[in-house]
Amino acid sequence: MKIGVIGTGYVGLPTGVGLAELGNEVTCVDCDSKKIATLQAGKTTLYEDGLGKLLHKNVAEGRIRFTTSMKEGVENADVVIVAVGTPSHPVTGEADVKYVHAAATELGEHLDGYTVIAIKSTVPVGTGDAVEALISKRNPLVDFDVVSLPEFLREGFALHDFFHPDRVVIGANTERARNVIKKLYKPFEGKTQMLFVKRRSSETIKYASNAFLAIKIHYINEMANFCEKTGADITEVAKGMGLDSRIGNRFLNPGPGYGGSCFPKDTMAMSYMARQNDVDMTLINAAIAGNTKRKQQMAERILEAVKWIENPKIAVLGLAFKDGTDDCRESPAMEIVYNLLEHKANITAYDPKAMGTAFQLLGDKINYADDMYACIKDADVLAILTEWNEFKSLDLDLAATLMRHKNIVDCRNLLDAETAIQSGFMYQGIGKKTEMKENCLREVA
Ligand code: NAD
Repeated sequence: MKIGVIGTGYVGLPTGVGLAELGNEVTCVDCDSKKIATLQAGKTTLYEDGLGKLLHKNVAEGRIRFTTSMKEGVENADVVIVAVGTPSHPVTGEADVKYVHAAATELGEHLDGYTVIAIKSTVPVGTGDAVEALISKRNPLVDFDVVSLPEFLREGFALHDFFHPDRVVIGANTERARNVIKKLYKPFEGKTQMLFVKRRSSETIKYASNAFLAIKIHYINEMANFCEKTGADITEVAKGMGLDSRIGNRFLNPGPGYGGSCFPKDTMAMSYMARQNDVDMTLINAAIAGNTKRKQQMAERILEAVKWIENPKIAVLGLAFKDGTDDCRESPAMEIVYNLLEHKANITAYDPKAMGTAFQLLGDKINYADDMYACIKDADVLAILTEWNEFKSLDLDLAATLMRHKNIVDCRNLLDAETAIQSGFMYQGIGKKTEMKENCLREVA
């Protein structure tokens, strides 16, 4: 099939590359000419496991190309996928659909023959109707349908999730559009659940899912706080809960709060839509407020660990909002760093993939290290903020000789508490009381 993809970000690029790999003829459009130039040169613009290689292969085999021209991208396309951003309004939390509307208006001008516009951006309920109206207004003669095709990929696993989706939700109001999307997803037939629903239901499913997951994370973080007070261990508690198939064991890892480009913005948008429709959504509102507080709590915990040291040096491992990505948008790690900076902290950070994206946001407000050991050298406390596998292999005996004080605040429960304590560290994880050796706070000679 001939496919146009509008927006080459964390959703659009893996989607375009995946569709090309399935044998489609894909044209990706972005208004960011710098991004397009990089992609045209065969280089990827974001970190996602396996993406660079697959991009290269499909460019070489002529199935994918990149352009800033909407005309080139959508002319004669069977399907146009809209994957532009829908950021939060800074005051109301409402999802800002200006990029979706702008793309719709522009693409409407160039459609040629029957086309299905598939909205992958996460959009408020009713956006499909608005997009339909905008295209018709721009070009009353054009033959098209608008479907909602929400994206459920996880950053860090974007290609895996593209090729092995849990489910595909399709909100299409016409049989004709449903048939086109069935053809697009033919390679997945029998391998995944395809759910055809009303367009407005599909738009809601995306928000309902993300809000639910955010609440689940907030819930386990509250349970972790409870465990810290009572002597229970959150790891054991989560394991026991997760064995119940009605609960499931995923999203039960306590940590520094949820983040990333989706959960914070989608919970805010859901809360806004609820308010607009006069519906009480106390759970979502509690998760939003609790998650904001969570990041402050983590920053306070780190500061508390070094409160007796003058001008403490804080080593931060992890800046991305999760492992497997360079995305720092709404990263809890970044929020904690901002919070620490407000307290004039002296920070050195290391992240395996997100140093570039973090630098764009933080500039020279912090120091950047080339690896974990350079990061922790002479530090008074080590704060682990992102769950990169690489950090699990930290040699704690070596770390103990490098740091000025043997002090770890592990906001991801990534290290083994016992081993850390054996190496002489004062170790604080999440949701468990930690014993410590008496001498762990003594300065390393
Ligand atoms: P992104 O910011 O990484 O990418 C958006 C891209 O769209 C940018 O490159 C931007 O230049 C481009 N763009 C904006 N307006 C355009 C226009 N008129 N024409 C052409 N290009 C345009 O965003 P993202 O993370 O890929 O998210 C896109 C959408 O998908 C959002 O609605 C998001 O909520 C949703 N989503 C994201 C994820 C995720 O993990 N990132 C997962 C599921 C859903």
